[in-house]
Amino acid sequence: MFDSLTNRLNKAFKNIAGKGKLSEKNMDEMLKEVRMSLLEADVNYRVVKDFIANIKEKAMGTEVLDALDPSQMVVKVVRDELVALLGESETSIHFKEEGITTVMMVGLQGTGKTTASAKIANLLKKKKDRNVLLAACDVVRPAAIEQLQTLGQQIGVEVYSEGVEVDALTTAKNAYQYANDNGFDTVLFDTAGRLHIDDELMQELENISKAIKPDDILLTVDAMTGQDIINVAQSFHERLNVSGLVLTKLDGDARGGGILSVRAVTNVPVMFVGLGEKIEDLDIFYPDRMAERILGMGDLMTLIEQAEEKMDKEAAEKSAERMMSGKFDLNDMLIQLEQVSKMGSISKIMKLIPGMNQMASNMDELKTDNKLKYTKAMIQSMTPYERENPDVIRSGRKRRIARGSGTQVGDVNRLISQFEKTRQMMKQMGKMQQNGSMANMDM
Ligand code: GDP
Repeated sequence: MFDSLTNRLNKAFKNIAGKGKLSEKNMDEMLKEVRMSLLEADVNYRVVKDFIANIKEKAMGTEVLDALDPSQMVVKVVRDELVALLGESETSIHFKEEGITTVMMVGLQGTGKTTASAKIANLLKKKKDRNVLLAACDVVRPAAIEQLQTLGQQIGVEVYSEGVEVDALTTAKNAYQYANDNGFDTVLFDTAGRLHIDDELMQELENISKAIKPDDILLTVDAMTGQDIINVAQSFHERLNVSGLVLTKLDGDARGGGILSVRAVTNVPVMFVGLGEKIEDLDIFYPDRMAERILGMGDLMTLIEQAEEKMDKEAAEKSAERMMSGKFDLNDMLIQLEQVSKMGSISKIMKLIPGMNQMASNMDELKTDNKLKYTKAMIQSMTPYERENPDVIRSGRKRRIARGSGTQVGDVNRLISQFEKTRQMMKQMGKMQQNGSMANMDM
């Protein structure tokens, strides 16, 4: 997602980088490039037009032209405009102070509505400490009810259903009553979808909306459908007054045009983004983080949050402590490697690090991930004694380790020598820290 847009934008900025002053001419050239890259990413034509006009107006202001490094200033202007385009700040669910908060999930079939219902229920339960009930109001497809029940079981959230014999409106009303009687503070209503927008569906959704007066109506839209998102969002919004969008399948290789245009055209904010099929693959949508990611500036906030969530903090801290005290052994290296692999592929992580985006795109992902895998396999093929005392690993042991991990003796040699170098470095750093001479080091 966004890879080619990011690359093209960076190329546009490079052309003006290092120029002492910006002239209207090279500014125009750069803007032309930016315009082309947005259109190529399938951003709505009118949105691009306004976007470029805004940038030009802001960037041609005197403070930009007098700035020390104009190209940096221009990137900042573009960044700020992107944030504005995406919606300034994050929008959250409108929780009621008292009583039951109700959220109605709507969307076309196949966009990921049922999955998103479960993902959001899980997020509200885990992060907001809500007591959530899922209501199965898609009574058209029996499979949809079963799917919601399976997901509910997976995340430990109760699913209210009366099967396909009872109509959606009655189910919705009864689900609300059930939540009220049983101490739930949040109900998510999974409603029926269709392949295309039709009046009968809209009428059903309107009726449910009138009856339960939801605090939020969230529309799921599939990022892969490009600019079509805008038409779908507009149609739903006209009938239902949608309060937020859930943009799904952002992990696919869509060009990104839909996500960049939909807020500007419909004025409905994106609240969540779906990044995969698994329950945890849902993020709150932060316009500033997304803008910075599009510009290849990385997303450190997300990286830190993911690290906190997925890593075994205690194990990582303990091994870091041991590293600094010079007691670092191959067990620690294995722990660190395991923590890193839990976060996903290396190139995915690198994209979140400022300045590393370009490198990540050029990287042979399979090769790097394989290297990580083989390094882990080599350490795992060692006995606990060998991991603690790598010095004892001589030729016979090396051959056994190589065989056990499907590698060559040369690979084992490289690992051990790399480990030795790291251990030496860590020892030195640990000593310096103890002597308080860190501050003098030029790091
Ligand atoms: P519904 O018909 O709108 O309820 O759609 P579903 O929730 O059944 O999802 C349709 C398909 O899309 C399923 O195979 C999901 O696993 C998949 N899906 C949903 N969200 C995402 C996402 O964010 N990324 C990816 N890759 N697949 C998703």
